[in-house]
Amino acid sequence: STPVAIFCALTKAAISGLLLKGGDYIETLSGIKTVAFDKTGTITRGEFTVTDFSVSVDDISIETLLYWVSSVESKSSHPMAAALVEYGMLNSVKPIPENVENFQNFPGEGVYGIINGKDIYIGNRRIGARAGSERVDCRTQCQSPEISTPNQCCGPTLVGVFRLADTCRSGALEAIEELKLLGVRSVMLTGDSSQAAMYAQSQLNHALDIVHAELLPAEKAVIIENFKKDGLIAMIGDGMNDAPALATADIGISMGISGSALANETGNAILMSNDIRKIPEAIRLARKTTRKLI
Ligand code: ADP
Ligand code: MG
Repeated sequence: STPVAIFCALTKAAISGLLLKGGDYIETLSGIKTVAFDKTGTITRGEFTVTDFSVSVDDISIETLLYWVSSVESKSSHPMAAALVEYGMLNSVKPIPENVENFQNFPGEGVYGIINGKDIYIGNRRIGARAGSERVDCRTQCQSPEISTPNQCCGPTLVGVFRLADTCRSGALEAIEELKLLGVRSVMLTGDSSQAAMYAQSQLNHALDIVHAELLPAEKAVIIENFKKDGLIAMIGDGMNDAPALATADIGISMGISGSALANETGNAILMSNDIRKIPEAIRLARKTTRKLI
């Protein structure tokens, strides 16, 4: 297609909210065979509610646990962090970020900080292993339904378990159905638990072709690399944990509004609305521009 046609397509895509960082991506989009979506913040809204929060040892109060969790999480930009800080506030516990030393973020796992000389790790089972706490699968410790993500707070011992739940974006199912009409396969890659992944899949009427859960950032990238053997692949994500996968895909697309700065920098395109229906729309536009038949 002519440079003018490419320029027109770039402009149209930009007006609809997808900013492509170069004309070559029109050609890439026109040939996409697979779209890989991150779950949290991409397919789902990334607006969590705490459904369960309990202390698992006798000598610590729920207020102390809330203070630890919300103070360490107040230093994180993960969608779960905001929900945990808010949950603390609802229970009259204010986070004190200044009291947290050596804060560290472990993408795909959770966060760490020291309060009053105590090591505090918050996150999934992987963070438990980092803490060196006795191997506890907090899935078996939490009572609430399977829709939510199990998390834990621990130092050398497991101190508390809690769960957070999130819902799919409106438009997520439509986007996947539209991709199917275009002959494009939809895949979900998530660092979240299998249960939470399968719950999202069921909310989407099992429309996703493939679901991979409990992935570390590097594992998302390896899966993308393998898909490349079957043709061009786009990856859509919002988090720091998605950056390696965004960089590996033929076209990486970040969620512009809610996405992390790293995702926006790494991506080849930025979705300025949170509407993932713009992805099939852009593929359609790109095919028209490059005169590829559907
Ligand atoms: P996704 O790939 O779906 O976007 P992430 O890789 O961001 O998910 O997170 C994977 C898992 O890591 C979460 O489900 C959670 O258990 C844990 N996690 C990550 N960041 C945090 C945090 N700040 N606080 C608690 N848990 C976290
Ligand atoms: Mg995410």
